[in-house]
Formats: sequence, C-alpha cells, structure tokens
Amino acid sequence: MEKFFQDFKRTFSKAAGKVVRKSGDVIEISKLTLAIAAANSEIEEEFEKIGRLVYEGYKSDSPVSEEISVHCALIDGKYADIDEFKEKMHAVKAVRLCPFCKAEISKESTFCAKCGEKL
Ligand SMILES: [Zn+2]
Repeated sequence: MEKFFQDFKRTFSKAAGKVVRKSGDVIEISKLTLAIAAANSEIEEEFEKIGRLVYEGYKSDSPVSEEISVHCALIDGKYADIDEFKEKMHAVKAVRLCPFCKAEISKESTFCAKCGEKL
C-alpha cells in the first residue's frame, strides 16, 4: 500500500510539473495513474500469494528449486526467531499460552479465562 502511494505521488508530481494541461486531462491522468498504481499493487499481492503457495509446497515436501528452498529455509529461521521472541515476551509478561486455545493466561491460573479449559 505504501508503494502504491509513492508511485502515485511520483507519477502525479511528474505529470503536474511538466506542462499546463486541460483540467479534464489532468483528471483523466490522475484516474489512469491511480488505476496503474492499483493494478501494480494487486500484482504485488498476487506475487505474495504465489510466494505463500511456494512456501506451503516446500513445507509439504513438494519439490522446489534450490534457490527457492534457500528462501523458504530463511523463512523457517524467522519463524523460529519469532517463537523465541514470543517465549521471552511471555516470560517478561509472566504469562503462558493455553495449550488448547493459545490465549495468554497468567502462570498461576488453573483455568483458561478464554476457553474455560482446566489446565
Ligand atoms: Zn484456552
């Protein structure tokens, strides 16, 4: 989304700075600029979806190229980092996760306040 506005701003200021245009043209240019930026943004979203599909394939042992598996392994490493950060955060906040619903609960509680399961 940020890129969307950057592209829009850049293209728009370029268009505005060049020549004096008829106001109808300016509106049309703005509309088209927005349409291009929106289409580019949607393309980025689709690329992201492709990336997720490739990663899911990697996790379910679908064959992927070596180059892709390097990136998937990096993502695995980041997920492991996040788990570690979460554990540290839970220690600082003196909470643990409910094994049933994964809600944060106090270390001393005997029932989960969210799902009601006995711990
Ligand atoms: Zn729970």
